[in-house]
Amino acid sequence: MSEAPQPGRGLNELVGLTLAALAEGRRRRGGPLPAGGPVRVRAAIHAALGVSPDRTSLLTRTGIGSTAAITGLVEALAAGSVDPADPWCAAHLHCPPLPVAVAADLAVSALNPSLDSWDQAPAATTIETEVVAALAALAGFDPTRATGTITTGGTESNLMGLLLARDAAHADAAGTGPSGRLRVFRSAAAHLSVDRAAAVLGLDDPPVAVIPTDGQDRMRLDLLRRALAEHPGPAVVVATAGTTDAGAVDPLREIAAAVEEHRRRPPLRRPPAAPAATGHPASSGWLHVDAAYGGGALFSDRLAACLDGLALADSVSLDLHKLGWQPAPAGVFLTPRPDGWPSVRVAHADYLRSEDDEAAGFPSLLDRSLRTTRRADSFPIAVTLRALGRAGLGALVDACHDLARHAERTVQADPRLESAFPVTLSTIVFRYRPRAGAAGSAAECTTDRLNRLNADIRRTLLLDGRAVVGRTRTGPDRAVHLKLTLLNHDATHADVDALLRLVAEIGDELAGEDGGGIGSVS
Ligand SMILES: *Cc1c(COP(=O)(O)O)cnc(C)c1O
Repeated sequence: MSEAPQPGRGLNELVGLTLAALAEGRRRRGGPLPAGGPVRVRAAIHAALGVSPDRTSLLTRTGIGSTAAITGLVEALAAGSVDPADPWCAAHLHCPPLPVAVAADLAVSALNPSLDSWDQAPAATTIETEVVAALAALAGFDPTRATGTITTGGTESNLMGLLLARDAAHADAAGTGPSGRLRVFRSAAAHLSVDRAAAVLGLDDPPVAVIPTDGQDRMRLDLLRRALAEHPGPAVVVATAGTTDAGAVDPLREIAAAVEEHRRRPPLRRPPAAPAATGHPASSGWLHVDAAYGGGALFSDRLAACLDGLALADSVSLDLHKLGWQPAPAGVFLTPRPDGWPSVRVAHADYLRSEDDEAAGFPSLLDRSLRTTRRADSFPIAVTLRALGRAGLGALVDACHDLARHAERTVQADPRLESAFPVTLSTIVFRYRPRAGAAGSAAECTTDRLNRLNADIRRTLLLDGRAVVGRTRTGPDRAVHLKLTLLNHDATHADVDALLRLVAEIGDELAGEDGGGIGSVS
């Protein structure tokens, strides 16, 4: 009988080539992103893929061999990537992964466990269970009762949260609970994935209720309470711990109290035959906290208090590919409840799981995810938690928070820059505004002109390959703002200062050139 192929066979040599090609590609790039914009990157990648006007597909009859393919394409990938490890790559919640996590990820790829059955993932099944328990405890849940799963990210975790809320509302309706349709409440700053999940689950009729935010990007509690009072039926409130732009944290403890009050509220129209109150909730209510960004603050002694009230949630989304420095995907979904995943439960999956196997002690995580084949993304997380501990990760979170606070001081000290929100986590939202009397600023600074200037600053940096700065719109007039999302714990105060200075200098140049002409940004 021939020996089964070993995952390590040939791998040593290819990993060596890969690391060398990564270094060479990075050297060719020479900055945080490739210069020249989409046209130049597309041409370079077409060349590496062997795609040309006369040969249109990268899939040719015969391949070029592993050595040439890995070397050529890893170099092209590295040369054509934005590098989150560069201090001037600061646009998104896009972290430089820790080397220890990347190494662990390689082991996952080599062994390829799949969590839909024990006999594809004996070790990984236990590892995921323990990672979920550790993170549930970190969130403040009782780890012996809490359940959860590793997901592809905040998007999938938010879908799971709304799915479990829908299941709970159905269960209440089947008992003594309220009738009426489940309504989703979220703040104006909630992540786009909440509305998508609501649409996928048919929870957009009645439409998702959008609660306005205060001047710091947090959900207005008074307006949430009023909206809940006007909705007699079941409700799911999605609070955000770390809004994607401002990093703001909704008042979780107060929102949890509002949801609890809603649960106790008598329904407006109780069916005449309904039994007297039995201690069952009258209106069902569910609190989902989207802590995809802010969840990382739990590692930090300094910042954990920002998430006060998180443990009162019925479900939570975390993302360790943000403030957790994991290679994506490393999403986490948690609930303090041991059961209550009816929509995910599979009645029959004879080829994956059987009752007698389970009775004999072979566990299955099939009923914890909407996916079937599922990669062991818990493994790099487990290795990282073991390697760094809470304090090690907390120090990285604090370093990013320090950078953002430093950036805030620099922005405040520069008359050409103005910040939009106070720093909560590791993001600063700001914009450039030409100084009165500076070249070109004789022209009136209309919102339109400021929008165009700020959009142009960012695009100039991207095209030159000099820096990756974020962009968003905010405020009542949805004005274009720039954003530094600081997830690189190795970046220094000097790096941030130099980047902000560059932004202001390019702003001055562009303001001098445009002289305030009319144009608009959409
Ligand atoms: C990033 C983010 C998400 C989406 O997470 P993915 O991992 O990209 O799917 C959801 N909510 C918030 C608040 C986020 O910052």
